[in-house]
Amino acid sequence: MANDTMIVTNTPARDLVSTNFVYCSLVDLRRLAAPGSRLVFAYVGDSWVLSVGAHDDVPNGSIGLNAVQRKYLRVSTGDSIPVRRFVPPENFKLAVLTLELDYLSRAKARDEQVDAVIVAQLIKRRLVDQVLTVGQKVTFEYLGNNFLFTVNQAVIEGQEKSDSERGLLSADTYVIFEAAGGSGIKIINQRESASSNLFRQKEFNLKALGIGGLGDEFADIFRRAFASRVFPPHVTSKLGIKHVKGMLLYGPPGTGKTLMARQIGKMLNGKDPKIVNGPEVLSKFVGETEKNIRDLFADAEHDQRTRGDQSDLHVIIFDEVDAICKSRGSTRDGTGVHDSIVNQLLTKIDGVEALNNVLLIGMTNRKDLLDEALLRPGRLEVQVEISLPDEAGRLQILEIHTTKMKENSFLAPDINLAELAARTKNYSGAELEGVVKSAVSYALNRQLNMDDLNKPVDEENIKVTMNDFLEAIDE
Ligand code: ADP
Repeated sequence: MANDTMIVTNTPARDLVSTNFVYCSLVDLRRLAAPGSRLVFAYVGDSWVLSVGAHDDVPNGSIGLNAVQRKYLRVSTGDSIPVRRFVPPENFKLAVLTLELDYLSRAKARDEQVDAVIVAQLIKRRLVDQVLTVGQKVTFEYLGNNFLFTVNQAVIEGQEKSDSERGLLSADTYVIFEAAGGSGIKIINQRESASSNLFRQKEFNLKALGIGGLGDEFADIFRRAFASRVFPPHVTSKLGIKHVKGMLLYGPPGTGKTLMARQIGKMLNGKDPKIVNGPEVLSKFVGETEKNIRDLFADAEHDQRTRGDQSDLHVIIFDEVDAICKSRGSTRDGTGVHDSIVNQLLTKIDGVEALNNVLLIGMTNRKDLLDEALLRPGRLEVQVEISLPDEAGRLQILEIHTTKMKENSFLAPDINLAELAARTKNYSGAELEGVVKSAVSYALNRQLNMDDLNKPVDEENIKVTMNDFLEAIDE
């Protein structure tokens, strides 16, 4: 490019919001634009890459910078500054961006809490598709205060291990905030910000997994319990995230708790998780139950000892956890045996602190019976209620359990699953599955020849009708 330097003028834009934008004439913009690119970026000064826009008020050969930009680029109006085209390379999206927040000016005298969830959204809305460079300063307004952030760290997608000099902010970038020393800024909801952000990238088709109507619960579980497991380790350490070690799914029987827990286990480590059940773990021999509990964790402990950080995640699903974890002192056998069982489980869960490779999922129909100590932070701390399905959920469940029949043309044309969903208020998923089975049995029964049970059934003619379903519901 012939002329690499431009004369600094004041920005024609009035707001401070545009601190990542600089302005020049249309002629200069064309000169700076890379062929075929929608966005124009330029090195301004030696290292910052800023977005360039055209503005009629800027003469050819000049570049409009605002006060913040001039200050941090150490130039004044009338100076000349190097401006060169910048073409973003491929794979330039930011995975992680760490920003140090400070006040530029404060409308409110008090120290302010800054909500990381909201501010991350705000920054992304304004700066999406913009290049951010480490060391760069950008201002924005939030709750009447003008903030300034400095880019502290940029990590490019797919290159999580090495820090980069700069990158392109995308809607999926997770933004980590640090408060500048002495700023008095308190950052809240940092964890939610990162995990909700991450969650948006994941879409789960639960119905395809055979789980009906629990989308919201699953999203909730994902955000609260999984997200930390999928962050790259350097992010978790930066965020100070401790992995969730345990969660509790509770609610009426037959609502899909086991289905969910299994699926979660599979998603997290790719294989079927270990499922045990409270009454099974209980032994009539003194001390044997405690040993059974210790054994549950033995694999994970062994794996951690021998493979350290390389250890797989061990998901342990504990059905009917209330059977062994009733409130201490609530059982009146007077022997204290029960208390010692609860203590053993608590010790094991607390010991998991050292292990990062265990996720315990407890399930119960009776949360009220559980020993409070089991529900404290660091134990089964994420608690999600799985309640009876609503009408939309019931429809999904009925669809799931009739998929095969439908594929094989066993459903009569008069079947109206939406109506059945409307008529089955307060049915659990398991009960709906029961209704389907029972309807099928009515249909099969019609095909049987009572006089000659050996006569082959005419498969072609098996049709489950709406009436079969209605009778099944009336049973
Ligand atoms: P819970 O653990 O809550 O007692 P389960 O997950 O064992 O219930 O459910 C028992 C059976 O009922 C499941 O295997 C499944 O066939 C059916 N079922 C229950 N809830 C659902 C659901 N939400 N979607 C699809 N099927 C369900």
